[in-house]
Amino acid sequence: MCRHLAYLGPPATLRSLLTDPPHSLFRQAWAPRRQRHGTVNADGFGIGWYADGDPVPARYRRGTPIWGDPSLPDLARVTRSRAVLAAVRSATQGSAPGEQAAAPFADGRWLFSHNGRLDGWPESAAELAAALLPAGPPGAAVLLSLEAMVDSAFLWALIGRRLRGGDDMAAALAAAIAAIEAAGATGRFNFLLTDGQAIAATACGDTLWYRRAVPAGAGGEPVPVMSVTVASEPDDDLAGWTEVPDRHVLTATPSGVSVRPLQPAPPGGSPSPGRGARTRSASPRPSPAPGVPPAPGVPAAPGLPASHGRQARRGVPAPTTTSASKGS
Ligand code: GLN
Repeated sequence: MCRHLAYLGPPATLRSLLTDPPHSLFRQAWAPRRQRHGTVNADGFGIGWYADGDPVPARYRRGTPIWGDPSLPDLARVTRSRAVLAAVRSATQGSAPGEQAAAPFADGRWLFSHNGRLDGWPESAAELAAALLPAGPPGAAVLLSLEAMVDSAFLWALIGRRLRGGDDMAAALAAAIAAIEAAGATGRFNFLLTDGQAIAATACGDTLWYRRAVPAGAGGEPVPVMSVTVASEPDDDLAGWTEVPDRHVLTATPSGVSVRPLQPAPPGGSPSPGRGARTRSASPRPSPAPGVPPAPGVPAAPGLPASHGRQARRGVPAPTTTSASKGS
């Protein structure tokens, strides 16, 4: 499994977000603390970030371990952003190597990462493409135009279609999982998505955490500038991290986090390590249902005591603020 992280908040260097924390994403490449599947994430990495005034993000990806990249320290030291999504990769068996197979995947203003696997890849993808993409571009064309032959790129193609069709981010993630599972496929689907303004993510088979914080030094401001981090696992042991329960979808901005349950998995269709796909032959079109039941969900950030200000985003944990979910 991979590890991934997204950040929104005041401008921060890539270094402060990705390599400085004691259990940073950089360190999680060889020493993750909460990873449920796999032990090392050495099959590449990627960083996507947004520059002020440009809605289309930049990416830097490599097919080699993050600790072996001689160019990263300089890049991470001088690059600042208000919106970042990054991942370190442990390749799923049967998927392509190389930087094109490393998250984040991109489409216009969106950045996407997948922690997990589509069971039975690649055969299951061919069956899913036939089941879920009968209209518009044929499923085969979608498969042939993937950036890399990796399950994550295929899942991103399914989700991207929903986003371009007008779904909001959380709805697109939840609906994609619902449609995949309704078609009989199984897997682990921890997705992470941002458009530079908000983050959407799913906990579906592996760990997911978030933290809102008041950056250090902002306490005297009349309106403190908040940040939010959504990550596979906490990158430090400071206060304020909240775990997202399995089979939930999250929407986060610096001003609020909402967490709602995903649609229940079909009987016998829960994500299951090492299990092959069971795509049904007469699978339905994707359900118009977004896959996000209108349940109230799980409360957001706990109001934990203020402390710690080692760096901007590691300041005072945010007071509890749960925004209304945008998921429909
Ligand atoms: N299946 C994805 C890949 O091969 C993600 C793998 C993972 O989460 N380890 O890149």
